[in-house]
Amino acid sequence: MKYISTRGTAPVLTFGEAMMTGLARDGGLYVPETVPAFTAPEIAALAGQSYEEVAFRVIRPFTGDTFTDEELRGLIDKAYAGFAHAARAPLVQLAPNHFLLELFHGPTLAFKDFAMQLIGQLFQAALAKSGEKITIVGATSGDTGSAAIEAFRGLSNVDVVIMYPHGRVSDVQRRQMTTPSESNVHTLAVDGDFDTCQALVKDMFNDFTFRDAVGLAGVNSINWGRVLVQVVYYFTAAVSLGAPGRPVSFTVPTGNFGDIFAGYIARKMGLPIEKLVVATNQNDILHRALSSGDYVPDGVKPSISPSMDIQVSSNFERALFDAYGRDGAAVTQLMAELKAGGFHISQGALETLRASFDSGRVSEEETSATIRRVLDGTGELLCPHSAVAVAVAEQHLGTVPMITLATAHPAKFPDAVEAASGIRPALPPHMADLFDRPERVNRIANDLSAVETFIRERTGR
Ligand SMILES: *Cc1c(COP(=O)(O)O)cnc(C)c1O
Repeated sequence: MKYISTRGTAPVLTFGEAMMTGLARDGGLYVPETVPAFTAPEIAALAGQSYEEVAFRVIRPFTGDTFTDEELRGLIDKAYAGFAHAARAPLVQLAPNHFLLELFHGPTLAFKDFAMQLIGQLFQAALAKSGEKITIVGATSGDTGSAAIEAFRGLSNVDVVIMYPHGRVSDVQRRQMTTPSESNVHTLAVDGDFDTCQALVKDMFNDFTFRDAVGLAGVNSINWGRVLVQVVYYFTAAVSLGAPGRPVSFTVPTGNFGDIFAGYIARKMGLPIEKLVVATNQNDILHRALSSGDYVPDGVKPSISPSMDIQVSSNFERALFDAYGRDGAAVTQLMAELKAGGFHISQGALETLRASFDSGRVSEEETSATIRRVLDGTGELLCPHSAVAVAVAEQHLGTVPMITLATAHPAKFPDAVEAASGIRPALPPHMADLFDRPERVNRIANDLSAVETFIRERTGR
C-alpha cells in the first residue's frame, strides 16, 4: 500500500513513513493510492465482533508491512483497554430511525481518543524500531490537544507541543492540556483562533531546516493515520444496524473534516452509506461551499461548540483531490487561491462531492434548544457539538437509518450544557480533581519564529 500527496509532487511513501511524516513536503496531505474494498460477506462477517477485532480487519489492509499482524493486534488491544465502555463506541436510539453513536468514552472524553490512543501506540512501536526521537506539534480547537497529551505524556523519545487558541477553549479542555506535569508536555496558548494555530503547524512543516532539526511529526488529522483509525467506528455502527444488507446514513459534527472524511473512506471500502451529512455551527464554510460552490473563509466566530470553530478545513483538500479526478496540480491551484482569499469549486467537482456529502448549519439558539429537547425526549444529555449534529440530522431523516456521531461528553462543556438544560454534567471520577491541579500556561504571539524558538529551547534541539 503506497501513499501519495494531494498536491502530486511529494515522494510516494509507505504507511509507516506517511504516518511519521504528517504534512507532505509539497504542502499536501497523504492519501492511499488505492482504497481497498471489502466484499459484502466480509462486511457481514464483522457483525458481532469486538471493536478491537473490527479495528484490526479495517486497518490492516492499509498498513502494508509497517507492523506484523500480531503487533497490530497487540497495539489495538492496548489502545482501547482504557475506555470506560465495553463496546468502546456504543449506539443508542434517539427516535424510530435515528441513532446516536457515543464516541466519548475514552480517557479525555472526546472522539479524538479513538485515533490518538492508537496513534500513540503506533508511534511508540515505530520509534522503538527506529530509535528516533521526535517532536510532535499539534494545533487544537480543544480536544485534539488533550487527547494527544494523554497519548504521549511521559514518553522518553517524544516531545509533544500543543497550540490552542487563547481564551477560545472550554475551561475543562484547557485544564486537560495545562495540568499534566510530565516534562515532555508543552502547551502554548496562541493569540489567535484555531486557523492561526493550524497555519503555524503547517508553516513549521514547510520550514524544512526546523522540521528536520527537531524531528517534527504531526498528529492533527492532516496525519493519514488519524483518519484511518476513525474509519473503524463507521463499520461497527453500520454493521450493528444491518449493513451490508441495509444501508445507513451518518451525520457528523464537522470542523476540520477529518472525522467525516473517515466515513467517506468507509464508503469507498464498500460500506453501504447513503449520505454523509456535514453538520456545522455558525462557522458554516463547508455548508456554504457544498451549497454554492464557493469556499471563502470569512473569519471564525466563537461558538458554544468551540471544537468546530474552524474556517480552513484541512481535510476537505483530500475530498477535493478525489472530486478533481486526483489531479494534484488542480488542488495546488485551489490552495493557492485559498491563500489569496478563497476558491470556486468547478461544477463537475461539486456534483461529485454532492454525491457523497449533504450538509446543514445550526445557529447557537437551535443548538441549545436541541440539548434541551433531546434531554426531555430521551434522557440523553448531549454536548453542544453533538447537538449541532442531531439538529442537522433531523433535517435529513429518511427511510434509511440515520446515525449521528456524538463527539464529546457533555461534561467537557459544562457551562453551555447547563445554560441549555439546567443540568451541570459532572466529570467522571478519574478527572474529578481537574480544577484542583496546578496549571502551566505559556502564552505566545502568532509568530512562527517565536514558536520555533520556544520549541527548540524546550526540546534542546
Ligand atoms: C474535533 C471535533 C469535532 C470536529 O471533527 P473534525 O474531524 O475536525 O471535523 C467535532 N466535535 C468535537 C467534540 C471535536 O473535538
